[in-house]
Amino acid sequence: MAAHTTETGSKKKLVVLDVDQEIAKFEAEERARLGLDKPDQAQWIEEMVDLKFTKAQREKYDTTVLVSGLTMAQDYFVEGALKGLGYRVMHLECPDTNALRYGKEFGNRGQCNPTYFTVGNLVKFLCTLRDQQGMTSEEIINKYVFLTAGACGPCRFGMYVTEYRKALRDAGFDGFRVLLFQQTGGFDQASGEDAAGLDMKPPFFIGIVKALLAGDVVNALGYRVRPYEVVPGSTDAALDRIKKNIYDALATNKSVFGALWSARKELGAVKVDRLRPKPRVSIIGEFWAMTTEGDGNYQLQRFLEQEGAEADIQLISAWLLYTIWEGRNDVKNRMNLRGSDGGKYG
Ligand code: SF4
Repeated sequence: MAAHTTETGSKKKLVVLDVDQEIAKFEAEERARLGLDKPDQAQWIEEMVDLKFTKAQREKYDTTVLVSGLTMAQDYFVEGALKGLGYRVMHLECPDTNALRYGKEFGNRGQCNPTYFTVGNLVKFLCTLRDQQGMTSEEIINKYVFLTAGACGPCRFGMYVTEYRKALRDAGFDGFRVLLFQQTGGFDQASGEDAAGLDMKPPFFIGIVKALLAGDVVNALGYRVRPYEVVPGSTDAALDRIKKNIYDALATNKSVFGALWSARKELGAVKVDRLRPKPRVSIIGEFWAMTTEGDGNYQLQRFLEQEGAEADIQLISAWLLYTIWEGRNDVKNRMNLRGSDGGKYG
């Protein structure tokens, strides 16, 4: 309740307002004005949230899971790992300036650079399928899904999925499936009958972790060797062979350690001159901007190398370790509670 006085001539009158009632009245008027008061006018976001990728679709092998968002090696290896688990999967190219244009055209105003680049990259790919390869929007919506991470952590994993859906709708792909897996969700998420297209059991997570760790190893070695190579291009040539071996190992469920062991020999054969003095420049900051290797950070790693530096990159393992630390820390904090909380084991 709220009260205020009104004056009519020389008389003052006390008016009592029911604020909740006023707000409800205002909301009803606004809903009517915007056409949101009819049941068939439900907001698009609600319609898109429950779109499913089913087990039957995965087993038919005609739905392609698109992945992207990390370094080029890691996106490629995640493709290999999921392929080894029976998915039809494809990684997107590293986002470029053209992807940024798509992101700006179809995304919300005032988003950050990583959002525009990553969302735009997906929209760009789908527009290429439609406008250059002649697929209809309906075929694309039926035959592709996009997999992205979601969690209660940084905004990158929170609002992205909504932003993807908004841009996709505006680009003409209303109903395109954006799948979300939560790093905090454990092994049981999305495992209901309808949603079992992504079988989020231990093999799924183990496959992804293998891909991320192998990508870290390859990236860390590559960035340490390349600045000192004697024959320009020899490190990249070795890395191409190494990546192919690791990808094949993941895709055929063979030992990734074996592939990494042979990588050691490949990189060991690259001739280097360690006597060249070089400044070591650490790249750190916003997660995607420091991880991407394309236009999203003006190809910062390559730029530093061209300018005569060694790029000291951050590894994705640090993020994995952080999530493990967070879980342990939470458990430790709860260990000495006198009563039980909402945790599974009290
Ligand atoms: S943390 Fe990254 S993704 Fe999140 S708003 Fe900032 S720049 Fe964008």
